[in-house]
Amino acid sequence: MTTVNDVFNVVADDPAAEMAALGRAHGIYPYFLPLEESEGTEVVMEGKRLVMAGSNNYLGLTAHPRVRAAAVEAVQRFGTSCTGSRLLNGTLAIHLELEERLARFFGKEDALVFATGYQSNVGAITALLGPAHIAVCDKEVHACILDGVHMAGSQLARFRHNDPEDLEAVLELYADTPAMVIVDGVYSMGGDLAKLPEIVSVARRRGARVYVDDAHGLGVVGPGGRGTAAHFDRVRDVDLIVSTFSKSLASVGGVVAGSAEVVDFIRHHARSMLFSAALPPSNTAAALAALDVLENEPDRPIRTQRHADRVRRELRAMGYDCGTSETSIVPVFTRDESTTAAAWKELLDRGVYTNPVMPPGVAPGRGMLRTSYMATHTEAQIDQVIAAFADIADIVRPGQVES
Ligand code: PMP
Repeated sequence: MTTVNDVFNVVADDPAAEMAALGRAHGIYPYFLPLEESEGTEVVMEGKRLVMAGSNNYLGLTAHPRVRAAAVEAVQRFGTSCTGSRLLNGTLAIHLELEERLARFFGKEDALVFATGYQSNVGAITALLGPAHIAVCDKEVHACILDGVHMAGSQLARFRHNDPEDLEAVLELYADTPAMVIVDGVYSMGGDLAKLPEIVSVARRRGARVYVDDAHGLGVVGPGGRGTAAHFDRVRDVDLIVSTFSKSLASVGGVVAGSAEVVDFIRHHARSMLFSAALPPSNTAAALAALDVLENEPDRPIRTQRHADRVRRELRAMGYDCGTSETSIVPVFTRDESTTAAAWKELLDRGVYTNPVMPPGVAPGRGMLRTSYMATHTEAQIDQVIAAFADIADIVRPGQVES
């Protein structure tokens, strides 16, 4: 007979726990490290001041006075929580205001706000797809899309990363099954842009719908930070745009934007929204205020991009491999785990915070330091990041750096 103890047996020989214990013993366990202070571009960890080169706060708005004030005012006006689902007592006037603003921002008829980006993807995908459908996903889509597909019980096929020809071959294989092509607008690890014009044209030719998760495109890519579909002038060809407030919009929460009919269908079927508490007042107001700032300060996305372009250019000149990145995310490929951990630690010692990414977060041999840049970084902070990478170039072992 199965007992609770049998279930907990999985905990005993967990390789992840062994790796964590080993890392902690050597002072190089890089995860769940608490920050003691954060001003955005600068954080304090273990009493040490660091330049933050690993945040998704691309526009630097978590520290913006207007965004902070809006969050505080919302707490004064609505309290600390919605204490209920959007369906029942949890909908606020500011949720509807944010939905209307985001629909207009993305150039879509309607939008629906969720409590997180994760729930947005899971909610939209489980609402729309079932066993009779197939989700045709890029190999590098975000994990929550795959979770949504699994929860939907739909069929799943993957195509080679950003490869429209492979997409076409997969769609041909499943020609009789209603399909939704799912891509990220900006890939969260590689920092590359989806080849949206080609992907949309293949999908249209094959009668498939197109779904773009633009978590890392909103606020950074396209005219006025309107995202990847706007960047490629393909807003009308993308059926659903999904994004999150936990990056450029300096909050938490997420959004699904599309036609009025489809969004209203999702509104009545997205279980991750219907059976969970609504986005809190403070986060709703912060996202609204961040959107205001973005619309009123169009140079912010440009500054973010300029910093990332400079880092990419200088790191590549030093021989680093930054892959095909072209956005605010600049990966530095370090390949194996020990190199990744060593490089991460050396950068910390030089006052620079980066995110080490290792399997299973990426495929084996694709270990990297994920770095990302903010509109509010100063040139001096960017200098420090570049100087630190110059210092540790020999740690990334010979043969692993492109010449
Ligand atoms: N999609 C992508 C591409 C992401 O990178 C993330 C978060 N890293 C999410 C969705 C989930 O968003 P959230 O953090 O708001 O739940």
